[in-house]
Amino acid sequence: MKQTQAFQAEIKQLLDLMIHSLYSHKEIFLRELISNASDACDKRKFLSLTDEKMLPAGMDLEIQLEVDKEKKLLRIIDNGIGMSHEEVTKNLGTIAHSGTKELLKHVQEAKDRPELIGQFGVGFYSAFMVADKVTVHTQKAGTTEGVLWESTGDGTFTTDAIPRPHGAGTTITLHLKPMDGEDESQDFTAEWTLKGLVKKYSDFIRYPIKMKVEKPKTEDEKTDKEKNTETNEFEVLNSQKALWLKSPSEIKDEEYKEFYQQIAHDWQSPLKTIHYKAEGTLEFHALLFIPSKQPWNYYSRDSEYGLNLYVKRVFIMNDCKDLLPPYLRFVRGLVDSSDLSLNVSREMLQHDRQVGAIRKSLTSKVLNTLKDWIQKNRSEYETFWAEFGPTLKEGVANDPTTKEKLQDLLLFKSTASEQWISLDEYIQQKPEEQKAIYYLAGENLTQLQASPYLEKLKKKGYNVLLCVDPVDEWVTKSLNQYKDIKLQSVAEENLDLSSEDEKKEFKGLEERFQPLLQTIKGHLEKHLQDVRITDRLTDTPACLVSSSNGMSAHMEHILAKLGKEDVPHSKRILEINPKHPLIERMLLCQDQTQKLWAELLYNQALLFEGSPLPEPHQFAKSINDLMMKQASL
Ligand code: ADP
Repeated sequence: MKQTQAFQAEIKQLLDLMIHSLYSHKEIFLRELISNASDACDKRKFLSLTDEKMLPAGMDLEIQLEVDKEKKLLRIIDNGIGMSHEEVTKNLGTIAHSGTKELLKHVQEAKDRPELIGQFGVGFYSAFMVADKVTVHTQKAGTTEGVLWESTGDGTFTTDAIPRPHGAGTTITLHLKPMDGEDESQDFTAEWTLKGLVKKYSDFIRYPIKMKVEKPKTEDEKTDKEKNTETNEFEVLNSQKALWLKSPSEIKDEEYKEFYQQIAHDWQSPLKTIHYKAEGTLEFHALLFIPSKQPWNYYSRDSEYGLNLYVKRVFIMNDCKDLLPPYLRFVRGLVDSSDLSLNVSREMLQHDRQVGAIRKSLTSKVLNTLKDWIQKNRSEYETFWAEFGPTLKEGVANDPTTKEKLQDLLLFKSTASEQWISLDEYIQQKPEEQKAIYYLAGENLTQLQASPYLEKLKKKGYNVLLCVDPVDEWVTKSLNQYKDIKLQSVAEENLDLSSEDEKKEFKGLEERFQPLLQTIKGHLEKHLQDVRITDRLTDTPACLVSSSNGMSAHMEHILAKLGKEDVPHSKRILEINPKHPLIERMLLCQDQTQKLWAELLYNQALLFEGSPLPEPHQFAKSINDLMMKQASL
């Protein structure tokens, strides 16, 4: 029975964008539909590895283009997995992504750049750029019920249960809009237009893309292979080149680029290409790419990653996550193994020893490439780092065994200059007497640059690494030291910056300040672990530091933001600057005043470390009282 349903609101907006688009490259709809057809073949192929019924013996997966010039129709036909009724309404009626709002924003921004559309995972709807009606006749493999989906892109679609004559697979029929002008390149029923588009956008698709030719070849024109095939009226339009099997010296940059763009759904060139063949106990080909930019949904939960896996040239699956560690998830590409069994399933892969060995080899290859890169082309590496550094760093924090390999690939911002700096450069440049590699973690560079925690270090001319990535403090803590030099947070206790003479002078001060320290400690007991005098400050009267075994304020904020419950809160240490005139004055004050000032100093210190005040109104009231006092003097 025919049913009419409304599109999800966002799809309706998306369709409006497509229908009224002035895109100059409307032709990309074909790339998108062929790519969907190819994915559908992948899925059927993959299921058939463990369930023979999914693909009858002798049936080849393929994609077909069919035109009807008269009726102005273009059909894209595949014998892939197909869709059930439920899947059609879900896949072609709603957007599966979590961030639909953001998605629309991106599509809107990409309005004049249709080549961008593929990356957003809404390729199907690009059909409405060239068609005023689209029908999808589909049948899920392993079932006998077909569904006919139809829409004119006006906000609704219909579905009807009608068996598909070809059985499992999907036929997409585009009722093409009238052409704008005479431009034949926009005539999507013209044989040479379609041939050109397939060559340009879909040449590497791993299934044959066939088209019925108008003039079948004569016996003389046929190649030997063609003579042996039954049908001669079909021509295969794509080369299905297994680029990775060729030797790198035979491959042009342009070919790598096109290949990358087709598998990564990206429109830019890759920043780095890694192509190699492993020989010996383990045999495989790998063709890997590092994109030049993060995909738009890189940080969203449903963003897919992983490599494509082939076994002896046979495609097995895409997005195989087991071939690389998570901290290299930005790498795209494929692996073609000679050792794995063709009957692998996703579950098996996780525990497969061969897969583990391939993963090890790939990881070390990628890391060696990065090492070489940072040494030989620093500026390009920095471009990479700005995009994917935060991901790579996770390796240090999550996998202790990678520390050694990753530590020389890390780059930081620092107080010394705007440039990125490596740990090695840092220790090369530091003054001889400087004992540690200092760092400060926080929200953003501007805030950190102005932080009182840096006062003394700046005076001494010490450089401090500024860590603004959420993962940074886990990285520095996991590293702990680099080439025997400790990494030390400048917001942590025991920051030893004094000379021997200064230390002696300090001993004297300690005694003088003892009673004041006791008063403050007694008054702020519920907030503080300890109160001490410090030599880390010059212009600021007091600051809070965390104990060396506790969690820093910044870490606590990050965990709280991530929605972690029961974030352990460790009490901090208030350090006061005995040389600050305000603290000197405090020594002479009455007990009551000392307590009030202590509260104010504590609140200021909370602001410096980026923490919220527990009672902001109380803080404001105390300040106002002081202002009134000053005014009435
Ligand atoms: P994407 O392909 O990026 O997920 P699309 O909007 O192009 O986004 O397609 C939405 C979904 O519809 C696909 O994920 C797939 O599940 C389904 N689909 C589209 N075309 C086909 C096809 N030819 N065969 C089977 N399923 C398809």
